[in-house]
Amino acid sequence: MTKTPASTAALQLADKKHHAHPFTDPKALAENGSRIISRGKGVEIWDNDGNKYLDGMAGLWCVNIGYGRNEIAERVKSQIEELCYYNSFFMSATPTQIELAETISSLTPEGLNHIFFGTSGSDANDTASRLVRHYWDLKGKPTKKTIISLIHAYHGSTITGASLGGWPAMHKMGSTLQAGYTHIMPPYWFEFGRNQSKEDFGLKAAQALEDAILLAGADNIAAFIAEPVMGAGGVIPAPDTYWPMVQEICKKHDVLLIADEVITGFGRTGEWFGSFTYNIKPDILNMAKGLSSGYAPISATAVSDDMYAVLSAGGEISHGFTYSGHPVCCAAALENIRIMKDEKIVEYVRDVAGPHFQNKLQEFADHPLVGEARGVGLLGALELVRDPKQGEKFAPEKRVAIRCVEKGFENGIIMRAIREVLEFSPPLIITTQEIDLLFDRARYCIDEVAKEEGIL
Ligand SMILES: *Cc1c(COP(=O)(O)O)cnc(C)c1O
Repeated sequence: MTKTPASTAALQLADKKHHAHPFTDPKALAENGSRIISRGKGVEIWDNDGNKYLDGMAGLWCVNIGYGRNEIAERVKSQIEELCYYNSFFMSATPTQIELAETISSLTPEGLNHIFFGTSGSDANDTASRLVRHYWDLKGKPTKKTIISLIHAYHGSTITGASLGGWPAMHKMGSTLQAGYTHIMPPYWFEFGRNQSKEDFGLKAAQALEDAILLAGADNIAAFIAEPVMGAGGVIPAPDTYWPMVQEICKKHDVLLIADEVITGFGRTGEWFGSFTYNIKPDILNMAKGLSSGYAPISATAVSDDMYAVLSAGGEISHGFTYSGHPVCCAAALENIRIMKDEKIVEYVRDVAGPHFQNKLQEFADHPLVGEARGVGLLGALELVRDPKQGEKFAPEKRVAIRCVEKGFENGIIMRAIREVLEFSPPLIITTQEIDLLFDRARYCIDEVAKEEGIL
């Protein structure tokens, strides 16, 4: 069943006419045409003209087991043939949903054994937000409604997701920021704490949480939400002192802790969840991207036994989606998890790929354009500055990080930019040779931009 591939120009024209893109400037799209990606295998993707790229971003932080795994195609096909869909409302369930809920419970940190399903990271965060508020209502504390989150955090693009997130442009678009959300300083040493040690700054950033709780009154705070390592907001691992103190503060003030593990879940940090890497004990843990390695849209919200006991005593849970626990997506997730276990992918990230990746990343630490190289597991970021010694930044109009990304496309690698930060999040199956290739090419691109800026 081969068909003649459509010409890139024809696709771009139809795309421009009819396809409204997320996170894209329509004017720039109309001028330049979209980049059309047609095929993927392993860590590589091909555009419609046959150019090959090493995908240093695993799609959008999600294609963890790599592109083109036939086993998932087979499992999804047989699920569709057997039962394409049935809902989980009104006391129904399908075997596939049940198996996945049980499987996820076996992987999550202790005590997180009750799984609500959704189809995206955003809706998982909506679910968490509704559940924590409902929980406090049931506990007879109806004023505990506000959720605290971090500046620069990304929690999705629904109204709740964008409100939880700390991105001003998202708050502004459509006046999205709702009442009941507070944003505090993140544990982002390079931006907020360079005048002190990382350890001291970690404590200061955690103190910002307690200050916010005290300012609003603990009686008004439902929960604190954070990514174990901030992802899209700049790949920001917290100093070691941060999470232990955050955990203490939440406990002390009766504030629930929501771990948004949409990126950090399923091996990205070298453990099944970032909560293991940082010894976090959340009341709710959200996962999405790596759950199916992007093969099908699915998310899950794992709720603690204690919380679920309270929710269970509160009557019907008036929440859910037509596609909560979609059997086809559950089948994709189950096969993804089977592959991760059989091929010991989490162990591979922890013992081989992660350490190699972090070593290569640190080789950039003394590059004349790099202020900080940071990361964990197979997450990495380079903070680009005009002068690392003085900490002098580039003007945003210089678009230095975006220019590096554009050079990456010209040189066969995919990176991502936010502010003046270059981000990396390759498929977890990346070999050490491919890691070398990724960073060799990244260095070439950064050098080129440094030359354009008269720095090299
Ligand atoms: C991607 C992401 C989301 C949103 O997930 P969608 O599936 O795009 O809705 C939420 N939280 C984090 C940490 C993410 O990285």
